[in-house]
Amino acid sequence: MTTRTVPSVSSSVSELGHSGIREVVNIALTMPGCIRLEVGEPNFPTPSHIVEAAVASARSGNVRYTGSAGLLSLREKVVRKLAAVNHIEAQANEINIGAGGIGGIAAAFAAILNPGDEVLLPDPGWPNYRMMLAWAHGVAVGYPLRPEAGFLPDVDEISALITPRTKVLVINSPSNPTGTVFPPSLIEELTALAVEHRIFLLSDECYDELIFEGEHLSPASFCTDGRVISAYTFSKTYAMTGWRVGYVVADQRVSDNITKVLESNSSCVPAVSQKAAEAALDGPRDQVMAMVNAYRTRRDRCADLLKEAGILINRPSGAFYLMADVSSSRLGAREFAFSLVRNKAVGVAPGTAFGQVASHAVRISLASSDADLMEGIGRLVQHLGETAG
Ligand code: PLP
Repeated sequence: MTTRTVPSVSSSVSELGHSGIREVVNIALTMPGCIRLEVGEPNFPTPSHIVEAAVASARSGNVRYTGSAGLLSLREKVVRKLAAVNHIEAQANEINIGAGGIGGIAAAFAAILNPGDEVLLPDPGWPNYRMMLAWAHGVAVGYPLRPEAGFLPDVDEISALITPRTKVLVINSPSNPTGTVFPPSLIEELTALAVEHRIFLLSDECYDELIFEGEHLSPASFCTDGRVISAYTFSKTYAMTGWRVGYVVADQRVSDNITKVLESNSSCVPAVSQKAAEAALDGPRDQVMAMVNAYRTRRDRCADLLKEAGILINRPSGAFYLMADVSSSRLGAREFAFSLVRNKAVGVAPGTAFGQVASHAVRISLASSDADLMEGIGRLVQHLGETAG
């Protein structure tokens, strides 16, 4: 008998749990007819002019590698979008096109981190930041976004968490999972904090065009010393999740490193998807406006339903997520989410997937259809009663 000795695998990746949202997704996928309120995926089709442009582009033979940073023609259009929407003055060589917002953010971490560097992350926050750090060798340090403070961070509290190893402060506004839009004055204070402590500010603005109320301010519009890295995506604004196109904007030094990371992990985003993204930027805005209006209407209806049931936590000003308080269930948020999907065929994301602060809550995605939202919230409220502690 031969003894096989197989080498060990990456311990930091092994120790990592799968995203808590995925755990619910995996159950929901085995249940035909399940109401899916757990994923942030627009239920609208990609606008047809975008699809048609991609088809025409593929037919014309645009099926080769592009440059690693992305097509220059797309990056030039992104320059114009950044100026018009975000008031950021960028050059095409400061932009990298990645596989969705996630591709750009992950490449940015890899581009700036040395092993052991600490990264300040929002709690509750998008779970993927933490997952990326496991292989980008960063150390996650959570800062709280407390419900009683409207899910806004306390600048002094973040300041107290900064150590000589802190390299990056990550902010996400409009926020997943809270839907909070940080007021401009807070963005200014957070940027000043990054300047004072000489750290990078990674501003995840993947929901920048999904705003119901308030004003979205991009730190890179006024802080131009090279510390701000801004991330965007086509996924949410244009209902293009499966096309996998996003972009990250950073000064030349960081951008060049990001390009090297992308060069080595994906070569480039599919050429056809990049052409689809160009059509999105060139095309009419009416469908984007219609989607934002639909999310706003859903927000109002669903917030009313949750309020009536006494479990509304937040009334989001942007993105497309609502948080519901499930602390009255004896199960705890994670078990409640599993129980809800198994027993009532409704998927929601447990607050535990986003850190510790929202562990009494579940996240409901407003990107699902009106009918699914109404029915799903009804079943959720019923199940809360059935599992009351
Ligand atoms: N950032 C946040 C906060 C998100 O919620 C998401 C997706 O859910 C992304 C970035 C990345 O989106 P994508 O990679 O689909 O473009």
